[in-house]
Amino acid sequence: MIPPDPPLRLAVDSAALAGNYRALGALSGKARAGAAVKANAYGVGLPVVVPVLANAGCESFFVAHWGEAAAIIGLVDPSRVSVLHGPLNAQDAAYARAIGAKPVINSVNQARLWQEAGGGLCDLMVDTGINRLGLPMAALGDSHVRQLDVDILMSHLASADEDSALNAAQQQRWASLPAEIKARRISLANSAGIGLGAAYHGDLTRPGLSLYGGVPRPELAQHIRQVVQPQVAIMQLRQLCAGESIGYNETFMATAAMRVGVVALGYADGYLRCWSGKGCLHYEGQPLPVLGRVSMDMTVIDVSAAPHIAEGDWVDVDYDLPQSAAISGLSQYELLTLLGQRFGRPAG
Ligand SMILES: *Cc1c(COP(=O)(O)O)cnc(C)c1O
Repeated sequence: MIPPDPPLRLAVDSAALAGNYRALGALSGKARAGAAVKANAYGVGLPVVVPVLANAGCESFFVAHWGEAAAIIGLVDPSRVSVLHGPLNAQDAAYARAIGAKPVINSVNQARLWQEAGGGLCDLMVDTGINRLGLPMAALGDSHVRQLDVDILMSHLASADEDSALNAAQQQRWASLPAEIKARRISLANSAGIGLGAAYHGDLTRPGLSLYGGVPRPELAQHIRQVVQPQVAIMQLRQLCAGESIGYNETFMATAAMRVGVVALGYADGYLRCWSGKGCLHYEGQPLPVLGRVSMDMTVIDVSAAPHIAEGDWVDVDYDLPQSAAISGLSQYELLTLLGQRFGRPAG
């Protein structure tokens, strides 16, 4: 028997997702837009996200781990999938060859591993200033690197969501790379980088966050729509008297009689304790503020504004990403990738 649907779900607005993809493509000018879909499409769900993006015209997909490549190759042609972490050992390189996904080569050692496994078309990540994963520019002349058959020659911006001098410095270093390494396409910009303008676009952009409703730079704000709407069912309604407290450690105390609801959403679902006393849900346009501590599997909300609400009714969790980041102190990236395994993720 299939287990019943869980009392919490992520409603994914496919039209908004496709619209965001097209908007980012248009903002990318002459470049095409690919899609970063690592970490289960930022928590939104690969099986829901990838078909929508593919239908909207996306041809290049980026995941981080080989396990994520396994999860996506049933959804798109493996030759369109790039694995950002690259091969860490011979097994990874053999696996890449077996499934036909491209490794992103990040070091001389990875270039050597790839050639020892038989090689083939790959991508190359060059570090131009983030000092994270990527081939140092000083290693561009290495013979293993020179022998690579490179599709996407890329670099990654450290501070594209800020007006930092590092952006232009990285752009200049990246623009000098094709003189050293032959490649079919060049790529630099993430979501925020798209907002930095044409000099950052190359042949391919790699948005992630903004596909899913995140706004890392003001230039993108008017183009990006909310995609993810967490929804949760009311499990229980109860009446509270003045002087009664709610939840662990009694952090909320009723000053008058009030009606409250218990919803199946907690920090194990990514609704962290920072939302305690700060978060808000909505029912038919009425706000239902979070009361007291968020616990592992449950949160209590004030339903005074919705006198007709009943047990079993579904309510929307306020989750506009820029606004939620400002209220919670979490980043827009964290807000997405925290969304836990217990959410139903229906397509549609
Ligand atoms: C995650 C990632 C992206 C997407 O970045 P966003 O800021 O989410 O748009 C692009 N490129 C690389 C290499 C990444 O790791």
